[in-house]
Amino acid sequence: MLELRQEHLEAIRVHAEADYPHECGGLLLGHLDGDTKTVVETLPMENTAAQETRHDRVLIDPRALMLAERDARKKELDVVGYYHSHPDDEAVPSQFDLDHALPVWSYIIVSVRDRRAVDWNSWEMVDDRSKFELERYEIREKQVGSGG
Ligand SMILES: [Zn+2]
Repeated sequence: MLELRQEHLEAIRVHAEADYPHECGGLLLGHLDGDTKTVVETLPMENTAAQETRHDRVLIDPRALMLAERDARKKELDVVGYYHSHPDDEAVPSQFDLDHALPVWSYIIVSVRDRRAVDWNSWEMVDDRSKFELERYEIREKQVGSGG
């Protein structure tokens, strides 16, 4: 299960709409506890795919990914998932997504049409890597008085 706050969804939506008609991508940083992944922050990543493939591909520079993971560890956070947008397409993983997915991670996919995020789902790959299944999620309220 994925736990996240409304502000995380908002950040993902803003990123997805800003990069339309290109795909955007970013990391979900937080904690893994049993089967529950709790998002603490979202981290937008630059899409380094070639201009002509950016409408349906996100490529993250491996070095940027490594640095992001290192920074996350410094904050005692883990990478618990990945979000990306599907411009003018469903919020459903593609074969490409399946081929590049990691176990355990949550995959949030946002459908963007005419520069508006219209739908999203969280997906998790099954253990034998044959497909994704919809992942249950819970949107937590921001804690009062937490200061952020
Ligand atoms: Zn995709």
